[in-house]
Amino acid sequence: MLFWFVVAIGVLILFFILTSMWESTLRTQESHHQSRAQLISQSVTNVLRTHELILDVAAAELVRSDLINHTREVPPFLDDIMDASSALAGFGMAMPDGELVKVTSSVDIHQAPNLLEQEASRDGFQRALESDRLIVGRTYFLAAVNAWIIPARKAVRNENGDVVAVMSAGIRADGDTGVFGKNMHVGPDDSVVIYREHDGYLQFMSKEGSSPEMYTSTHEVPEPHEVDWVDDIGAGENILEVVKARPVPSTYYRERGGENYIGAAWYSPDYELWIISESNDRVVWADFVKRGSILLAVFSALAVLLFILVLHIERAEKERRSALMYRSRHDDLTSLLNRVGLIDQIQELVKDGENFGVILLDIDNFSGINDRFGQDHGDKVLTEFARCLAELARDQYSVARLGGNEFAVVSPVRNPSKLLALCNDLLKSLIREISSGPLRLQLGVTLGAAVSPEHGGSFNSIIRSAHLALYQAKKARNDVCLYRKDLEAEHLRRVHIEQRLRVAIKNQELFMAYQPQLDDSGRVVGMEALARWNDAELGYVPPNEFVEVAEACGLMIDLGNYVLDRSLADFRVIVDQVHAPLELSVNISTMQFIQPGFGDFVLAKLKKHNVHPRQLTLEITETVFISGFEQVLPVLEQLRGAGINLSMDDFGTGYSSLSLLRKLPIDELKIDKSFVDSINDDERARNMVESIIAIGQNHRMRLVAEGVEEAAQFKTLIAMGCGRFQGYLFSRPVRAEELLTVINECNARVIH
Ligand code: C2E
Ligand code: CA
Ligand code: CA
Repeated sequence: MLFWFVVAIGVLILFFILTSMWESTLRTQESHHQSRAQLISQSVTNVLRTHELILDVAAAELVRSDLINHTREVPPFLDDIMDASSALAGFGMAMPDGELVKVTSSVDIHQAPNLLEQEASRDGFQRALESDRLIVGRTYFLAAVNAWIIPARKAVRNENGDVVAVMSAGIRADGDTGVFGKNMHVGPDDSVVIYREHDGYLQFMSKEGSSPEMYTSTHEVPEPHEVDWVDDIGAGENILEVVKARPVPSTYYRERGGENYIGAAWYSPDYELWIISESNDRVVWADFVKRGSILLAVFSALAVLLFILVLHIERAEKERRSALMYRSRHDDLTSLLNRVGLIDQIQELVKDGENFGVILLDIDNFSGINDRFGQDHGDKVLTEFARCLAELARDQYSVARLGGNEFAVVSPVRNPSKLLALCNDLLKSLIREISSGPLRLQLGVTLGAAVSPEHGGSFNSIIRSAHLALYQAKKARNDVCLYRKDLEAEHLRRVHIEQRLRVAIKNQELFMAYQPQLDDSGRVVGMEALARWNDAELGYVPPNEFVEVAEACGLMIDLGNYVLDRSLADFRVIVDQVHAPLELSVNISTMQFIQPGFGDFVLAKLKKHNVHPRQLTLEITETVFISGFEQVLPVLEQLRGAGINLSMDDFGTGYSSLSLLRKLPIDELKIDKSFVDSINDDERARNMVESIIAIGQNHRMRLVAEGVEEAAQFKTLIAMGCGRFQGYLFSRPVRAEELLTVINECNARVIH
């Protein structure tokens, strides 16, 4: 737009310049014609005066020599006089009856015509007879001199005033040079014309393509009263008189035969001649075009330059805008689409009425990676993960990073079971080890999927559905889940739990229950601390449920700290009352464990409650190793070095292999309730327990069986070599106040 604006202004300026250039071209032409007409007028006047003088001299000489008679002859002195003018074709003296009698040698005396009888000269001769002045006759071809001549005549009178002779000169009208030369004009559109006013005969004409034959008849010549006079010389009837009276030529414009002319005219009152310098306006145009084209060329060049510049600027601007657009729709770190980009993509699909699937992916325990190894390693993991994901999902619609460690894949696959299969493929390929500098991190990933339009017809609803599925999948980690309707209710409950839990933790509404652990003789040797929560609105919320919510919404650290503090405080009290060796087991969530400074925190708590580290067992699960074995090792070793025992809870239910265990600095294995439940009915459970016990014994680990409900299970486990037991068979988890009674009851049953 700016370009066109500048061009428009340029065109306007150009228009004004051209207009004034046109005006000045006209003025130049006008003044050219004016000066030429002036010059020719002076020349013509001079030439005629000169020849009048020549005729006067010759007449005087003829009178003096007494040669005014009818004898035809060629007096030599006439030739001498003729030498004074190169323009003369010849001259001579005619008697009043028209007969030419005395001539210069240039005139063929035998061909000399009777000037009064000859049509072309009659009128001029007669007028000469009646006048005292030089009379210019019609231009005609005089055979006697073999040339086109302009006759100039002057009567010679005696003392009485009677005409005795008429002097007659023939001035060449077809010479190459001089005032009556045929090259007075310049170019095909230019002309110089002299014509007689009283009869319209051309006296002289210099013009491309003209020939002397034109002098033989009257012609259409410029009519002085049909033209537009330029100078301010008034208007009206007598304008021509004004023009005629002016001492200088007057410029004019006129139209003739469909063409326009510009010229200047001057009237000679002495000889009654119009002297005209005129050209076709093509000359003006040519001049104008010549001058204007330079300007136009410069203007065009400038416009082209400006256009190129503007084009360049516009292209740069476009690039900048599209780069900005790209940046606004893409993630800086991974170059994948960002949330805005994903919204666009999904809205586009929805608008087009496409069916599609959305998969949300979450890198398990990513915040742990960032917290412990720093942002750089975190970024490295993210870019590497993004690269793998983009590669794996190259056939899908798009891959996006929604922020943090959350990614999304939009897929043309909308069949739920096929989408689930795709999720499983992705899961398999994405669980891998990523190395960042010296670190080698084991990545885990969880996927939630939903299809549009069944699970949501807009960006927000489909992403929400996929989120619910993701959340569900996260319960198991490294899992995949497709959206189901019942996830909605779970989601609502989770939101409710989260709200209430926040308040409960702040007000310390949670309390601890303790479940005794016995040795094979039935003596209580330890207890596991288990958190309990009775909410005013929600009623009893099982720990599985609120622990999961706490982990998901960032409340776990506070909750865990509270649990450790309370358990140690309660334990201190119980130990003092029991007077027998007792140990305390506390469940530690992965999130707590991978928190920087966790080891120091535990040691400080032990000191605070005056509990010996050997009395404390921390129960962890395999998910602690999800972000890499090497990274957790230093924490494990710090705790063990201080004397704290480490227990592997729910062993055998997770993803890690039994072989992982060999490397672990672990003091205790907890045989999961699921194996204990079916130990007497299911061969596989039995084998599993046997393997776990074998590994434990191999590595000198303590073996604890949990969920022992039946005496038969107890017996089998003893037979297999398990050393510690925990379950409803002995006691449910009880409040701290009841614990002493329960311990004493158990110990009383011990068979000595
Ligand atoms: P867990 O660590 O495996 O705890 C053992 C669970 O088995 C407890 O459930 C306990 O009450 C139950 N249990 C023990 N013996 C029997 C039995 O003979 N029969 C049956 N049916 N159940 C038995 P609870 O207290 O509901 O805790 C569930 C899970 O919640 C725990 O599993 C643990 O993962 C988590 N949890 C509980 N308290 C805490 C806590 O303070 N911190 C952390 N991080 N997690 C906790
Ligand atoms: Ca436990
Ligand atoms: Ca367990």
